[in-house]
Amino acid sequence: MSDHRLETICVQGGYTPGNGEPRQIPIIQSTTYKYDTSEDMGKLFDLESDGYMYSRLSNPTNDRVAAKIAAMEGGTAAILTSSGQAATFYSIFNIAGCGDHIVSCSTIYGGTFNLFAVTMKRMGIDFTFVAPDCTDAELEAAFRPNTKAVFGETIANPALVVLDLERFANAAHAHGVPLIIDNTFATPINCRPFEWGVDIVTHSTTKYMDGHGTAVGGVIVDSGKFDWFAHADKFPGLTTPDESYHGVTYAERFGIGGAFITKCTAQLMRDFGSIQSPQNAFYLNLGLESLHVRMPRHCENGQAVAEFLVKHPKVKAVTYCGLPTDKYYELGKKYLPNGSCGVVSFEIKGGREAASVFMKNLKLAAIETHVADARTCCLAPAASTHRQMTDEQLAAAGIPAGLIRMSCGLESKYDLIEDIAQALEAVK
Ligand SMILES: *Cc1c(COP(=O)(O)O)cnc(C)c1O
Repeated sequence: MSDHRLETICVQGGYTPGNGEPRQIPIIQSTTYKYDTSEDMGKLFDLESDGYMYSRLSNPTNDRVAAKIAAMEGGTAAILTSSGQAATFYSIFNIAGCGDHIVSCSTIYGGTFNLFAVTMKRMGIDFTFVAPDCTDAELEAAFRPNTKAVFGETIANPALVVLDLERFANAAHAHGVPLIIDNTFATPINCRPFEWGVDIVTHSTTKYMDGHGTAVGGVIVDSGKFDWFAHADKFPGLTTPDESYHGVTYAERFGIGGAFITKCTAQLMRDFGSIQSPQNAFYLNLGLESLHVRMPRHCENGQAVAEFLVKHPKVKAVTYCGLPTDKYYELGKKYLPNGSCGVVSFEIKGGREAASVFMKNLKLAAIETHVADARTCCLAPAASTHRQMTDEQLAAAGIPAGLIRMSCGLESKYDLIEDIAQALEAVK
């Protein structure tokens, strides 16, 4: 299936039914699995045979959907998680622990920022945040001997910064660590980070991949290209025996393409259990089947709304990398030649108050914390998702206090623009 084009993988990847089998991916709604002998079961617990032991670790429905996403990203293996947050946490905790350090872009999702700066810090993992446009010297200075990974977002939520993936990949690799990229906003339809040297990709599948506001979920995909043994001293969890599985060494037993995801399943899912339910995996797959049809429309609507807003006298600034005036237009052309996403952010003249009047007057676009849905929605980050951040942190994340993030759905762009125009009319 991975020989096929992306559109075909979206529709048919991950699952090929045999004669007389269900056409749609079956929902295996079972917590447990049955074995003929204790020895058969024992082999699973020693990671010696493939199969399912318990649905806290893995499930056949999830595995088929994960296989589809792995193929879409051009990776070797993937795991579904219960949320995007769980995917981000696992992607880092799989290779870093107490006493380790991570370099992260400062322009990241607010929930990810809290996870890193507060919760994972309490676990003893230190983060250095660097601006996406920092100088080479600043990026270089962020690394420490105990740095285990670099993290960023292809298109930052909500700052809409396009990250120079090649540059960050080169910096990470020069220090012998992988680059982990949250590809939620771009989706593999608009950017495949592995083609630019990225090693691990995560997604909040809650967003475009699901696309219908139906199920919270996440995924981690491994490119299968990072050589853990080449930097064995940095990644003992992958390159030395795991006593909790009779001394299996993941990078040896499962190879370069399988080690990361197998360890993630065998250890982190076993111990934390943030697995996606098979029912949610089924919904996610319905979304994936049309992702390649939906994304171009989200981009068309985003572009039209951005072009309308940028000319409007009540709008101070518009951020959308599809606008030639945008700071990230050139990087967008390089990494997102077919379009970025449907999310546009803009600042209304009059700050917080004007933003509030505008949003109250919208009729089609609903006020939601959500983004990347078939239905247009919007929010003011400083008053909601990012309200825990100080003004300095907001500024570092590229979020003015009066910013509005609008996620353009799949409605008619003409109706969306009319709705925005009448709501702007109400702003005095
Ligand atoms: C929403 C989001 C997340 C968190 O995902 P959840 O599924 O809500 O846990 C992470 N990264 C980005 C870019 C997001 O937009």
